[in-house]
Amino acid sequence: MKQLEEIKVAEPDIFQKIANHEQVVFCNDPTTGLQAIIAIHDTTLGPALGGTRMYPYKSVDEALEDVLRLSEGMTYKCAAADLDFGGGKAVIIGDPENDKSPGLFRSFGQFVDSLNGRFYTGTDMGTTTDDFVQALKETNFINGIPEAYGGSGDSSISTAHGVIYALEATNQYLFSDKRLGNRSYVIQGLGKVGYKVAEQLLETGAELYVNDLNKNTVQLIKEKAKNTNGTVHIVDCDAIYSVGADVFIPCAMGAVINDQTIDQLNVKGIVGSANNQLQSSNHAKKLQEKGILYAPDYIVNAGGLIQVADELYGPNQQRVLEKTKAIYHSLLDIYRQANMYSITTVEAANRKVQESLALQRSRNNFYARKRRPKWNVRE
Ligand code: NAD
Repeated sequence: MKQLEEIKVAEPDIFQKIANHEQVVFCNDPTTGLQAIIAIHDTTLGPALGGTRMYPYKSVDEALEDVLRLSEGMTYKCAAADLDFGGGKAVIIGDPENDKSPGLFRSFGQFVDSLNGRFYTGTDMGTTTDDFVQALKETNFINGIPEAYGGSGDSSISTAHGVIYALEATNQYLFSDKRLGNRSYVIQGLGKVGYKVAEQLLETGAELYVNDLNKNTVQLIKEKAKNTNGTVHIVDCDAIYSVGADVFIPCAMGAVINDQTIDQLNVKGIVGSANNQLQSSNHAKKLQEKGILYAPDYIVNAGGLIQVADELYGPNQQRVLEKTKAIYHSLLDIYRQANMYSITTVEAANRKVQESLALQRSRNNFYARKRRPKWNVRE
């Protein structure tokens, strides 16, 4: 009886926290040390899809907060990219440098399998494809696996393609000319995505201002430029925000658009792959007031997600490329809607997602209504 009373006290708190989510699963395996949380936000459009992050969270509360926030973001990303998937995410509490073992990921794979296809997952911050090769031994509900295991391989290629289509849409909207070559761009971060975007822009003859903490990649892109019609200027990290150019392409870390950087920015548009570029939602409004066109990050960087979702049909790079092209029209539509209704581009993107979820829900209800009499007869 005492136990029941305790549960009653605990319930409202946890259920309030997960009120926007369909299901949250706590995974505990003392043998391997696995402590993980899987959050399924919304499966209106299909099974939940989202990566698994491994991070040394300081508390379970912190991990829960992160997985709830990230899984909700995945619902938006999947809907915006027109994928038949809903939003989910998982977090493993632990230090990726010290706490990994093949057994831990096999154990995690078993928990994923227990959801029987309600949740598909793969790599995220702190996890690698090697980790998910272990999970794959226990479950088929894994995406983004290496080509050697029948997967589609490096998804940053598709993410970079998506950024290129988003740049074309932005040029079309801003300059009524989608060509990339006769413009200047500032690229922050020349990692897996940024480097590929820089390479493709150089091939078109564009002028680039670049920086990266890693001096080797900066040198590599400078060398690369010599065999193209494009040019590369190397910029100090601190000076990157004030460079005068057509478009800023953030491809490093989040929260780079904030009060300090908006004051410095000297570009007409922002189109990058980095996640969560805006430090807070009111920075979309500030950019609009300054006359800078902002391409919502979750629209621009969806190429990799499109690729891993498409893996379910078997790997096919050409098909993924075709699907990724949709980013061009989707972004142009968002720009036009934002202009028409005098709202920010982020509001326009979110509105588009909410409309497609509502449409799908009404379709689901239609089927539910049709099925209901049958159930009644059986009862
Ligand atoms: P990455 O780790 O390969 O590259 C990031 C690069 O940014 C590194 O070269 C790093 O040295 C550089 N960097 C870090 N801090 C910097 C700073 N202050 N100034 C300049 N350079 C800095 O990552 P990635 O896969 O290329 O992803 C880039 C961004 O895009 C990340 O925010 C990521 O979350 C996001 N993203 C990536 C994918 C993908 O398919 N890889 C998909 C969606 C979103």
